[in-house]
Parts: sequence; C-alpha cells; structure tokens
Amino acid sequence: MSASAALIDFPPVTSLLDLDPESFTQRLRDHGGRASLTWDFERERLVASQPWLDELAAALMANDRDFHRHEGVFLATGPETGALFGAFVHTTVRGQGAGGLRQWPYANLDTFLRDGLRLSLGMARKNALAGLWWGGGKGIIARQPGDRFKDPGYRRVLYREYGSFTTSLRGLYITAEDVGTSPPDVAAVFETTRFAISIPPAVGGSGNPSPATAKGVVCAMEAALDHRGMGTIAGKTIAMQGAGNVAGFMIEELLARGVGKIIATDITEERCAEVRARFAGQPVEVRLAAPGDDSILAEPCDVLAPCALGAVLNPTTIPGIRAPIVCGAANNQLLDDRRDDHALAERGIVYVPDYVANRMGIVNCANEQYGSLPQDPAIERHFGRDWDNAVYVITRAVLELASHEGITTANAANRLADRACALPHPIWGHRGKAILAALVAEGWG
Ligand code: NAD
Repeated sequence: MSASAALIDFPPVTSLLDLDPESFTQRLRDHGGRASLTWDFERERLVASQPWLDELAAALMANDRDFHRHEGVFLATGPETGALFGAFVHTTVRGQGAGGLRQWPYANLDTFLRDGLRLSLGMARKNALAGLWWGGGKGIIARQPGDRFKDPGYRRVLYREYGSFTTSLRGLYITAEDVGTSPPDVAAVFETTRFAISIPPAVGGSGNPSPATAKGVVCAMEAALDHRGMGTIAGKTIAMQGAGNVAGFMIEELLARGVGKIIATDITEERCAEVRARFAGQPVEVRLAAPGDDSILAEPCDVLAPCALGAVLNPTTIPGIRAPIVCGAANNQLLDDRRDDHALAERGIVYVPDYVANRMGIVNCANEQYGSLPQDPAIERHFGRDWDNAVYVITRAVLELASHEGITTANAANRLADRACALPHPIWGHRGKAILAALVAEGWG
C-alpha cells in the first residue's frame, strides 16, 4: 500500500489511543488481525509485536497509574464478527493469569486498555490475597455498536471466537464470567478453549457463585465489627445498596446471625417485590430507589454494604455516610482508588476493600478442574477463622496493618496482596514467563 493510500484509508489522528474500537480494529485487521505488547524481563520494558504499535507501548509505560509492569496485553479481532478482543495479563508468578471476561462498550482504545490493565492488576491482588495459586488476568470484548450483542446466535459466534483467541495464548490467560458475559456465553467459550473457569455445572463447572460471595462478604463484615470492637452481627443495622443476587443471599446469612435490621434498596420494582416476599415477616425493609438515588448511602447504620454498582464511594457520597464501617460486594466501590480511600479514613470510616470482601466469586470457580465435593473444604476454609487465608483472617490482617502503619485500608490490602503476588507457584514456578517467551518467539501477533 502506498503512503498516500494509507493516508486516505486512515485519516490522521492524534493518537491510536483516541481511536474508537471499530477504527482500531480496522487497522488491526490490516496488520494481520492480532498484536501484542509484552514485557521484556531483560530490558525491563514493554515491547510491541509490530512497529505501528510502538506508540502504544510507550504510552502504557508512561502511565504509571494503570500500568504496573504487566506481563502482556494481547489484542485480536474476531474473524467473523470483527469485534475487538483483549487479554490482559498482569502477572503469572503465582500461576496462570486468571480473571473474568467483560463485554462492555468503550468510547476509545484508551479506556479499553486502561480498564484491562486496572482490572487484571485487581484480579492478581484478589487471587493472591485469597490464597489461590493463580496470577491475575482479565479479558475484554469491546461491545460492538447497535443491538447485535443481544442476539444469541451472534453471541455464540463471538464467544467461540474469544475462546479460540484464548487458546492461542497457550494458557497464559484463564478466562471466566464477568459483567456482560452470561453462563451460556462461557459455555460457548468452553467449546473452543480449555482455558476457562466458571463453566456450566452441566459440564463439571461450579455453578452460581453468589451464595459463596455473599457468605464471604458477611465474614468480612464480622472481621470489621471485631476490629472496631463492636461485637457480632446480632442486633446490628445493615444498609444495603442493591438487592440483587448477592444481596439476597447476604440477607439470608445476616438473618441467620441475628441481625437487628436490614434496609435494602433496589432500582427495579420487580426485584424489590421478590425480596420483600422472600423475607416477609423478618426485619428486612426493601425500598425502591430511583436510578441515581444514592440516599441509602447516608442511612444511619452499623455497616453500609454497597452491593449494586461501583464508583459509589466518591466526594459526593462520602461526606454523608453515617456508618462506621463500609463493607459490600460491589466491585470497584471507590471512584478514585488513590483519593477516596483517604477521604473515608479521614472521616474515621473503616472501609473493607472490595476485593478483600468479595473474593468468593472467583474462589468458587477457581479450582473447579480439581473436582468438587459436597460442603467442599477448599471453599469452606475461606469462611472459617483457622486458615491463614480465610476471609475473616485476611480482613483482620488488612485492617490491623492499616491501623498500625497509619495507611489506608486499600493501601494495606495492596501491600499484603503484592507480597503474595511475588510468591512463585509451588510446583510450576513462574511458568508463565516461559509461555510468554514462547509466544514472542513464535511471533504471536
Ligand atoms: P445483580 O445484578 O444480581 O444485583 C445488582 C442489583 O443492584 C440489581 O438488582 C440492580 O437492580 C440493583 N441496582 C443497580 N443500581 C442500583 C442503585 N443505584 N441503587 C440500588 N440498586 C441498584 O448483581 P450481583 O451478582 O448481585 O452483584 C452485585 C455486585 O457484586 C456487582 O457489583 C458485582 O460486580 C459484584 N460481585 C458479584 C459477585 C457474584 O458472585 N455475583 C462476585 C464478586 C463481585
């Protein structure tokens, strides 16, 4: 292609990062359909598989907020759908980089990449603090424009494509369900790769993670109450934003522990009615909230549990919080994870970092290839108080480290997690590094 043709095909833009996913995918297709940015352990730098992506490698290296020496970013286009796929691997020191596959609309490549980098780091920390022998990874499919994503036929093709993409990475990344990806989608992924967890129970998978997640969050609440010297859950008032899957099971757990009162909000009338009916006659008040109505966060209570969406702890909501403890299931509760943890600490609020409290979603499926048992000890030990990695024990350790060192609870959790992330897998060592080298040597992308 001549230089002038290239100019006609690709009008100049300030940066690849500004391109929307469709325009970037077009370029990627013109360069063979896949590309990677991989960490060079010798030279300590990120290397692009093709020169036109050097700009991206430089931009990520310069972004010390989101880029933490990630081992690899792999990009590809779906052969039939043309969708943009990403696999982000933060670390494989403890094992293969495991984390869910998100399908979400992105305005540009910048937000796509930043989300993948941030989420894969978060998974590395969550997995390590849970004592899992997994590294951290995350998959992303940029949702294509229009309503196509709702069509089951399209989804099957899309997720089968993503499975093949995952297979091509030789097991460096292990995929799973996440926001925008449903159980039938994971079933489609599993048709074209073995490197998937949270597969359907019908083929040996672990099934709905919500009951385990709920129980884990309640164990974290108990640890926070003990840390503050507030006693047990019995008689306490808990305010919950969101009355969805996890929240429903949390209400069961809290009632079983003699909770005084639960006030939960949801934005859908149907869900409110279901939860009211499920807990009729019990001290559970369910309120319908308008979307964007965050008034539940200012409810006077002993524990505030964000169990709906992320980013709810921010400069607008934090000054109004009237709970001494925040501990919930929602992911990414802090709008800004370098600012809002400080704002909570300054107000004397004990914040249990979300990934410490809600780890049981990934724990529930993480080891499903090792077989399952009724009342599985590999799961149950997370709910006890004897095992070093139990939710209660780790939550206490995080909160105590924060008090002792005068740092935020988020920083304390990251410190403990980063230490655990640096421990190599007891059998396989840092095998991911060798897999990465093999991918580079065979010219992946
Ligand atoms: P869900 O979709 O079943 O429940 C979320 C509920 O929140 C829905 O009923 C929704 O209507 C409601 N909601 C949305 N916005 C709201 C608002 N502003 N105010 C009040 N209610 C609102 O999801 P879930 O599986 O229960 O997960 C809840 C949260 O926990 C999510 O952030 C999820 O990412 C996180 N999480 C879930 C698991 C799991 O095992 N399911 C594991 C880890 C983390």
